[in-house]
Amino acid sequence: MATALESLMDQRAHAFATAEHGAFIDGAEIAPSEKTFSTVDPATGEVITTVAESEDRVVDQAVQSAAKAFEGEWGSMLPADRETALHRFANLVEENAAELAQYDALEGGKPIAQVEGVDLPLAVEQFRYYAGWPTKIQGATVPVSTPNAHVYTRRMPLGVVAAITPWNFPLCQAAIKLAPALAAGNSVVLKPSELTSLSSLRLAQLAVEAGLPAGTVNVVTGSGAGTGQALISHPLVNKISFTGSEATGRHLGAEAGRSLKHISLELGGKNPNIIFADADVAKAAAYAATTAYFYSGQVCFSGSRLMVERSVVDEVVEAVKEHASALVLGHGLERASTMGPLASAHHREKVERYLNTVEGTGGTVAFGGSRLDRAGFFLQPTAVIGSADSDPVVADEIFGPVLAIQPFDSLEELIPRANSGKYGLSAGVWTNDVRKAHNVAQQLRAGTVWVNTYADYNAAAPFGGTKSSGLGKDCGPDGLDKFLESQTVWMSLA
Ligand code: NAD
Repeated sequence: MATALESLMDQRAHAFATAEHGAFIDGAEIAPSEKTFSTVDPATGEVITTVAESEDRVVDQAVQSAAKAFEGEWGSMLPADRETALHRFANLVEENAAELAQYDALEGGKPIAQVEGVDLPLAVEQFRYYAGWPTKIQGATVPVSTPNAHVYTRRMPLGVVAAITPWNFPLCQAAIKLAPALAAGNSVVLKPSELTSLSSLRLAQLAVEAGLPAGTVNVVTGSGAGTGQALISHPLVNKISFTGSEATGRHLGAEAGRSLKHISLELGGKNPNIIFADADVAKAAAYAATTAYFYSGQVCFSGSRLMVERSVVDEVVEAVKEHASALVLGHGLERASTMGPLASAHHREKVERYLNTVEGTGGTVAFGGSRLDRAGFFLQPTAVIGSADSDPVVADEIFGPVLAIQPFDSLEELIPRANSGKYGLSAGVWTNDVRKAHNVAQQLRAGTVWVNTYADYNAAAPFGGTKSSGLGKDCGPDGLDKFLESQTVWMSLA
C-alpha cells in the first residue's frame, strides 16, 4: 500500500501523510498521546497512518495556549500587523497548495484536480478577503436621547474560538473559520473531522511560519464524542463555530445553551434545483448533473433534489444519465478521476439504506445504485425518480451520489413543495423569464438561491442556511460579525 501511495504523492506530502500525528499546540505538533486511531484511504480501505485521539488533558493544554495568545501577543497586535500576518498566511497557503491538495484528495477521496481547482482557491480567497478587515472593524457613536452623554461602541473579539469542521471540505472549512476568527482578533482551537486531520495540521504549521504567535492557532485531533466534546465544554472557550450535520449541530446548540457560549451552525441541506421548461434545458441539465455528483454528492449545497417541469423531464433525465456515465470513478490522487469514493464504509452503508427504501415507497431507481467491483467505498452515480416529497430519499440529506428527480406541473404547486423540507440551505432556479426567476427566488425559504447557475461561492457573499440548515452566515461582513461582540461606553459630558 505504502508503495502505491508513494507513487501517487510527492515525497514531502507522502512523508507527512504517513507519519504518526499528535495535536498541534503552542506552535508545534506534540507527540501522539497513548490513545490513537487509524485513518483510512477511502479509495482502497487501507490504513494511512495513526493520529492522536486528544484526551481532555491535551484539549485543556490547547485551550490554555489559545487563551494565553489571546491575552498576550496576538490579542495586543496592532490591526495593521494582524493584516500583514494574515496576508502572509494566505500567500503560504497558496504557495503550498499542491501539497495541501494531496491531503484532502487522499483522506477525503476527492479528485485532486477538483481540490486544486476549487478547494484551494476558495481557501486562499478566504484568507485574502478577511486579511483586509482588521483595519476596518469599527464601532459607532450612538445618538442617545440622554443629556450630556457621549456614547460609543467598540467591536471586540470573543476570545478562544472552538472551530469544528466536517470531512467533506477539510481545508476549505478550516479556512472559512480561521480567516474571519483571526481577522476579528480571536485565537482558535481547531478540531477537524477524525476522517481528515492532515490538511488542518499542516495549516497550523503554515500559520506559525506566517508569523502568527504560538498558540494563536491550535489543532486537536480526535473523535467528536471524545475530543470534540471536551473542547466544546471547556470553560475558557467562548465561541463554538461548527460546520457539520444537523444532529451534531443540535447537540452543540444545547451545550452552548447550558454553558452560555456564542455559537454559529452551518448544517446540512436538501436543496431543490428547479428547472422550468422555458430554461436553457441542456445547460440546466448539465449543471444539475455536475452539482449532484460533485464530490460524490457529499456537499451541503449539492443540488440533490431536482424538480423539473413535466414537459422536459425525459430530456433532463437522459442528459443527466449521459453526464453520469461519462464520470471516471477512481482514486482521488489519480488525475484521470472525476468522481471518488464515499468517505467511509459506514457512510456508504447509510447511503445504501436510503436506496433500499426507494422501490417500496413508489419510486424507481432510474440508473446506478450499485457498488463498484473494486476495493474502496465507491458507489455509482445514481438517480431515483417518482418519489414523494415526504419519502426519505427526497426529504433527508443523503450526502451521497443520489439525485432525487421529481416532476412538477405548475408554479402554484411547486413553491409549497420546494419549501416542504426541513432544510433551507440553498436552491437553484432555471428559467429565461426574469420575472418568474425573481418571484420564485423570493418565495423559496433558502439562504442562497442561484438563478441560471449553481454552486457559485465567494468569500465576499454571505452563505448559510435557514430552518434546520443552521444559524449564522459564513463569508462577507456577516461571517466576520459572528466572531465579534460590542462594548458600549457611556461618558458623562456634564
Ligand atoms: P458530523 O456532524 O458528523 O461531524 C462534524 C464535526 O463535528 C466532526 O469534526 C466531528 O468529529 C464533530 N463532532 C461530532 N460530535 C461532536 C461532539 N459531541 N462535540 C464536538 N464535536 C463533535 O458531520 P460530518 O459527517 O463530518 O459532515 C457532513 C455534514 O456537514 C453534512 O450534514 C453537511 O451538509 C454538513 N456541511 C455543511 C456545510 C455548510 O456550509 N452548511 C458545509 C460542509 C458540510
